[in-house]
Order: sequence, then C-alpha cells, then structure tokens
Amino acid sequence: MARTFTFDCPVCEVCTVVDDDVRDLVLDEGCVLCAADVTRAAFSPSSRGRDR
Ligand SMILES: [Zn+2]
Repeated sequence: MARTFTFDCPVCEVCTVVDDDVRDLVLDEGCVLCAADVTRAAFSPSSRGRDR
C-alpha cells in the first residue's frame, strides 16, 4: 500500500492528497499548480486517522 501525504502548498494554498511518487515529483519539480518550490514541510503524513 502506498503511503499518502497531504500536500498543502504555502504559495497558492492548494491542498491535495498525494502518494509517495507524486510527492517526489512535486519536491523535484515544484507545486503542481503554481510550480513554486516546495519542501518536505509542505507535506504531512495522511493516514486513516484524521487526528495527527
Ligand atoms: Zn502552489
């Protein structure tokens, strides 16, 4: 099962759930929407529980 992360762009405020592969892509190429440089801090682990 792929792990998923919640991606919360600090620039354009897009908020979406991504998996490992997409996270790597975004870290490499920037935000999917505004192409801003993002760091791992923009991702938070998304698991079944809604609480962190
Ligand atoms: Zn963005």
